[in-house]
Amino acid sequence: MPELPEVETLARDLRATVVGRKVTKASVSPDAPRLVQEMPVEVFEAGLRGRRIEGVSRRGKYLMLALDKGMWWVLHRRMSGNVLLRPVKAPDEPYIRARFRLDDGNELRFVDLRKFGTMWLTDDPAPILAKLGPEPLDEAFTGDVLRETLKKRTTAIKAVLLDQAAIAGVGNLYADEALHYAGIHPKRPAKSLTKAEVGHLHEGIVRALEQGLANLGSSVGNAAGEEVSLRDHVNLNGESGKNQEYLVAYGREGRPCRTCGTAIERMKLAQRSAHFCPQCQPLRRRRKRAAKRG
Ligand SMILES: [Zn+2]
Repeated sequence: MPELPEVETLARDLRATVVGRKVTKASVSPDAPRLVQEMPVEVFEAGLRGRRIEGVSRRGKYLMLALDKGMWWVLHRRMSGNVLLRPVKAPDEPYIRARFRLDDGNELRFVDLRKFGTMWLTDDPAPILAKLGPEPLDEAFTGDVLRETLKKRTTAIKAVLLDQAAIAGVGNLYADEALHYAGIHPKRPAKSLTKAEVGHLHEGIVRALEQGLANLGSSVGNAAGEEVSLRDHVNLNGESGKNQEYLVAYGREGRPCRTCGTAIERMKLAQRSAHFCPQCQPLRRRRKRAAKRG
């Protein structure tokens, strides 16, 4: 499931390839009736036709394409959405839900096995993004900002990390990774974290996301040990990311912790799977051993 590093990788790839191109034809498949938001499909298709792509950016897990005439094309990949750039004549991949022909002989294909992906065409993207919290890789996102966010929340820290209103762009995979780097059990109540722990968590979030970005995203199935599949993240050229090879917690149930060798455990939390090391991420802080004996 694409998170900040996967969407940012896509944004960077698109910025290098499609800025300046014009959309000559947009067509949405009738088998993806929920893809286009807030307007009839015909209006969306007609509205994109002839628009020039002027810039590409990202906010949280939303991909934003700035178009001429002050329009925005906003895309959320959700569970399994991928964007591919292909020559128009290249053979089709399975599960193409929409295609956008460009004026250079290529087309953007939106491929989405699960069909949860969504798109908007709007002159004002602000309402779509209104509830998003801070960008975790911005300099403005400091340990103090994170501490403010956590101090009033009684829910499990993992659930807070998944809340897009708390931090934008972190999902299940990078939340598990960040908590492992910080040595924090996913079930700890957010407000119970000490100042030092929040500092470690802040570092863990940044480390996990930057590593994902450096490796062009994580391509890993939802089920543990599953091979890269059609539901997985792939980049604009169709190739997998590499970050799955470096994961420390997510998807590693039963495998040895890279720090201490204890088997990584998986538990249900906030309707999702949480992966953690019971040794490195204890639920309760261990009591200090009695300093002296008898
Ligand atoms: Zn461990």
